[in-house]
Amino acid sequence: MTTPVYQNFINGHFLKNQSGETFAVKNPATDEVIYHVEVADAFVQNAAIESAKQGFATWSAMTPIERSRILLKAVELLRARNDELAKIEVLDTGKPWQEAECVDVQTGADVIEYFAGLAPAQVGQQQMVGEDFYYTRKEPLGICAGIGAWNYPLQIACWKSGPALAAGNALIFKPSEETPLGAIKLAEIFIEAGVPAGVFNVVQGAAEVGQWLTQSDDIEKVSFTGEVGTGKKVVASAAGSLKDVTMELGGKSPLLVFDDADISQAVSAAMLGNFYTQGEICTNCTRIYVHKNVYQQFIDELKTRTEQNIIAGDPMNPEVNLGALISKNHHDLVMGYIDKGISEGATLLTGGKALKPDSAPNGYFVAPTVFTDCTDDMTIVKEEIFGPVMSVLVFDDEDDAIRRANDTHLGLAAGVFTKDIKRAHRVIHQLQAGICWINSYGNSPAEMPVGGYKQSGIGRENGIETLDHYTQTKSIYVGMTDIESPF
Ligand code: NDP
Repeated sequence: MTTPVYQNFINGHFLKNQSGETFAVKNPATDEVIYHVEVADAFVQNAAIESAKQGFATWSAMTPIERSRILLKAVELLRARNDELAKIEVLDTGKPWQEAECVDVQTGADVIEYFAGLAPAQVGQQQMVGEDFYYTRKEPLGICAGIGAWNYPLQIACWKSGPALAAGNALIFKPSEETPLGAIKLAEIFIEAGVPAGVFNVVQGAAEVGQWLTQSDDIEKVSFTGEVGTGKKVVASAAGSLKDVTMELGGKSPLLVFDDADISQAVSAAMLGNFYTQGEICTNCTRIYVHKNVYQQFIDELKTRTEQNIIAGDPMNPEVNLGALISKNHHDLVMGYIDKGISEGATLLTGGKALKPDSAPNGYFVAPTVFTDCTDDMTIVKEEIFGPVMSVLVFDDEDDAIRRANDTHLGLAAGVFTKDIKRAHRVIHQLQAGICWINSYGNSPAEMPVGGYKQSGIGRENGIETLDHYTQTKSIYVGMTDIESPF
């Protein structure tokens, strides 16, 4: 059977490359190639820049309320096509349909809707300086680049294009090579909604295409989502042309469960924050610090619920709540971490093996895995695994738990479970992380800024402040009096 071949999406339509180079995309749940994609060669790259220049000129000349109306139309189309788009995400990522159907498209559409609403509300300042005065304008940056990870492909494309386009920029987006289709569908939707050609171009390929985006002198900003190591390369490369950067990187986030917490709720949070999207979420609470008084109760309930309530299998089956990992490579990497956990002396409470569900025997599944008796120096406690692997640690002193939670170069997220309202805020204020939850975990509404402390990131996505990251301030001084000149 021949599979479809998708081209790059440039200037409002598909553009054939000249090199003829393509790559294959597999369904992680079946190990089958589902389609091919053309790589953005030099011809496509040049076309992407030239059309983005034209697109930017048209788009930035529109009033914010005109842009807002068009973006709201795109939101309507995204929601109307929810199921078609969610299915693409399931086939590309291996995540369960029951998640994609209600989260991926919706949370992407929410963010575009949020920024579409904010666009006309952006204002500058005006101030008198004696009889003269100055005013400021918030102007778009120009052509921006977005580079996405594979875990939430469409959502990431929406989270980057929403604020970028609302502020009047053009965006050239490169999805991960593992999950290229969602961004193409978003590009088609933008065109159908009335976004001018060239304002949102999609270029395809691996690291080389990403590197080109970070190096191009025609691009003013790069917004990147991916691993810390890649993020460092992107920042270094972007420095060559002094690009603005937003970095959404990895984490190794702590969740502190105190002895007055609602333990069932804390177990729910720990399971969501480790097994949702089969553990492939940047903010996951992969280090669970549990107070010694409730440690046994916590791990007993965790083991029971993990063994009874998780259903792995064909991700399109609406009953399935644990999907396949993104690739064979990633699967093997995660299994390698599990082996390390065992060899370094952690106790395997449950899981710890690859799965071959009857409905998807060739998929890259890993059983939800919980390690207990973990110590802070273990590899599984220190490094981001990005799979369904949870490490549980014990503590008995609040200050010590905070110190241990902060003892990492990462700082993406953190959580606290306690019924003591003073302790909740006291502890969360001391945790070095950009995204924090109290008696909750993982919610990320469009209104709330998200981003990392320390090596987990630079800048923020979502929330009002993100529009500022896609604009630059022009100050205009207006002379109302004669110029005093010594010349
Ligand atoms: P990678 O860093 O491997 O890749 C991210 C993107 O960068 C991909 O599109 C990749 O292309 C591209 N890329 C690779 N090398 C370069 C380069 N030298 N220059 C420019 N672009 C490059 O991350 P993953 O895709 O593996 O995603 C998982 C990671 O993303 C995890 O660490 C996770 O924590 C993080 N993440 C962070 C989020 C946040 O908001 N903080 C949200 C989601 C994920 P290709 O894949 O095609 O090779």
